[in-house]
Amino acid sequence: MKQILIKNAYIVTMNAKREIYNNGSILIEGNKIKAIGKVEKNLIAENVEILDANGKIILPGFINTHVHLSQQLGRGIADDVDLLTWLRERVWPYESSFDYESSLISSTACCVEMIKSGVTTFLESGGQYVDAMVEAVKNTGMRAALSKSVMDDGIGLPENWVKTADEEIETQKELFEKYNNSADGRIKIWFGLRTIFNNSDELILKTKKIADELNTGIHMHIAEIAAENDYVKSSRGNSTVEHLHKLGALGPNLLAVHTVWLTDREIDLFRLYDVKVSHNPAAAMKVVLGFARIPEMLDKGLNVSIGTDGAPSNNRMDMMREMYLTSLIHKGRTLNPKVVPAEQVLEMATINGAKCALLEKEIGSLEVGKKADLIILNPNTIHSLPLHDPIANIVYTMSSENVESTMCNGQWLMKNREILFLNEKELMENLKQKSKEIKEKAGIVLPNRFPVIDII
Ligand SMILES: [Zn+2]
Repeated sequence: MKQILIKNAYIVTMNAKREIYNNGSILIEGNKIKAIGKVEKNLIAENVEILDANGKIILPGFINTHVHLSQQLGRGIADDVDLLTWLRERVWPYESSFDYESSLISSTACCVEMIKSGVTTFLESGGQYVDAMVEAVKNTGMRAALSKSVMDDGIGLPENWVKTADEEIETQKELFEKYNNSADGRIKIWFGLRTIFNNSDELILKTKKIADELNTGIHMHIAEIAAENDYVKSSRGNSTVEHLHKLGALGPNLLAVHTVWLTDREIDLFRLYDVKVSHNPAAAMKVVLGFARIPEMLDKGLNVSIGTDGAPSNNRMDMMREMYLTSLIHKGRTLNPKVVPAEQVLEMATINGAKCALLEKEIGSLEVGKKADLIILNPNTIHSLPLHDPIANIVYTMSSENVESTMCNGQWLMKNREILFLNEKELMENLKQKSKEIKEKAGIVLPNRFPVIDII
């Protein structure tokens, strides 16, 4: 079996003791970590590929727990607008004009951007063309839990998206049978619940039942805006989380995204049922959802991870930038510099993300027997030196440009900043052309922000 040995690195393992190996080595065999720290010579095969990582930092690959692959081509179509305009006049018309090919280009571009910021695993909250997302994940070599965008209820939906609860469940069951554990086990299929605005109780109950039976996850936007709780209270009698609790839909396989508007009791309910949380700081500020009570959730022992959300609401798929924001916004909100410190942010982006992905035994830390999902950071850039406190430097100082190489499942996806599985320039050309076509098809015209004079 193929072996890779990376030597002389500063290895941040994120194992249970959070051990760091200074001047350590890591031996990869096939898709797994065979040895770490001090690697005994008798374990190393003759034809091993050796990489000297002197002066570099090795981390587990980041886990982005909330992404919209099919929104990547819509970056920049909905800036500086309110949420309803964002959704109904820009993002929905844009996304509903997609076909398989645009979905594939969008997904591939999103994956490449993530790989360049050190992401090896992501949780996708749902597009219309799951087949195209599967193909993108297969081609890019990443690890992902994919779900369909599932909506059976609610106002303002594009016509071709309205389905019954049974139709939505059936389609997802087929996708699960076809793709779960495909691409060498890198692809998982989850069940999607877009948001309670667009999901009936019947669908929520059926989703919970089938996801439990199939032992897979559920990805749902929860308590995203204040108006969501008002809507659920007036239509169903309780806030979103209280209502889900009443339905019996809370559980350890539920990933709750955003969770901005939670009461103390709702945080306690999440703890009780081990509901997982994806915090998306950039999107929460840019689309003005509000500030999630993350320090309070962490204090109560909730498993909180980090997500970027989609390109029209962030607008970057950059986990390095997201880690920085995660720490800063809560210090600012609570006026306490000690909340959400760098080491906790790193936990959120790695091991906590693995728990959200229901893959804690396989990824999220660098340990013998786990999958070889890792990144190499090169701190030798003018914006990140000197390196007095490496963990703090990663979170507060480095950017995605410091991610030198990315490996998933024992395969290099990016080496020395070069994407190995496709021609990035070609992808960018396709992306520019396709995004323009879709914008025209969806009839979206953006006003000029300054007078534009065409020079002929
Ligand atoms: Zn989202």
